Amino acid sequence: MNILFNDVHDALVNAYSQFSSFKGGENASYIPYLATVPDNLAAIAIVTVEGDILSKGDSEFRFALESISKVCSLALALEDVGPSVVQNRIGADPTGLPFNSIIALELHGGKPLSPLVNAGAMSTVSILKAENVENRWKRILDMQQQLAGAPVSLCEALNHSEQTTNFHNRAIAWLLYSADAIYCDPMEACDVYTRQCSTLVNTVELATMAATLAACGINPLTQKTVLTAENIPFLLAQMTMEGMYGSSGDWAYTVGLPAKSGVGGGVLTVVPGVMGIAAFSPPLDTMGNSVRAQKMTASLTQQLGYNLYKNR
Ligand code: GLU
Repeated sequence: MNILFNDVHDALVNAYSQFSSFKGGENASYIPYLATVPDNLAAIAIVTVEGDILSKGDSEFRFALESISKVCSLALALEDVGPSVVQNRIGADPTGLPFNSIIALELHGGKPLSPLVNAGAMSTVSILKAENVENRWKRILDMQQQLAGAPVSLCEALNHSEQTTNFHNRAIAWLLYSADAIYCDPMEACDVYTRQCSTLVNTVELATMAATLAACGINPLTQKTVLTAENIPFLLAQMTMEGMYGSSGDWAYTVGLPAKSGVGGGVLTVVPGVMGIAAFSPPLDTMGNSVRAQKMTASLTQQLGYNLYKNR
């Protein structure tokens, strides 16, 4: 272990001890399963591009991937159809509105704008090359596993909880259909999108996903090439614009790194060429981002001086 790695270790411990019990926020409750997750859980992990791992807290606990799954499906779409098709058919702009906004669609002629909001994510699922619903699902799950470098599986209880309450997303899928902005059966897209949100990962697996993006698409733990290196900048740009919901601008301003959060309490952050970071804790702020995960990540990256807009 070199000195730099010792610095990272100290910064991680410091970030965790300062913010893992920070008060504030509430579990998401519109998906009943998420309301039942203990709200005192907290973890932070890093995986470097060389494959070194550090973690602190409840890093073995598996939680719902939720919106972070949008990154995995977008990665697959970039492989399948390329950056220009993604930009032209789905979009590459922030909506400036909540992640499940219908107004955002109304304002832009039915175009989702971002693959990282619910409308754009369902459109992304629909644009993938797939022979049928099960093949579409299998390809997405496989991408999640390749990025994580570990088996990832559907949580039946969570999927049931989501599939029986996702009426708003079903409405979005039909609105996309009416605007010619969804490219398979809308209910198939909604079903598979709901499944992709219902998988479980632990914090180290999430950090490995981020590390694969940091390492130009090569998973540092398995050494397998998961993504085309040329597609990664498009993915990271989308994360910068919409990855932290309505706080994406504030996150870029204060942290300066591409990230994606999910209502399960996870936040995945990429330090290109250096490491992937994941933090987790269920209570969310009003924007839908984990309060503690944001604070732990911001603390760690600031202590280490990681910020894309800084000349290091
Ligand atoms: N399954 C959730 C939904 O569609 C994911 C939302 C999120 O994490 O932003 O509402």
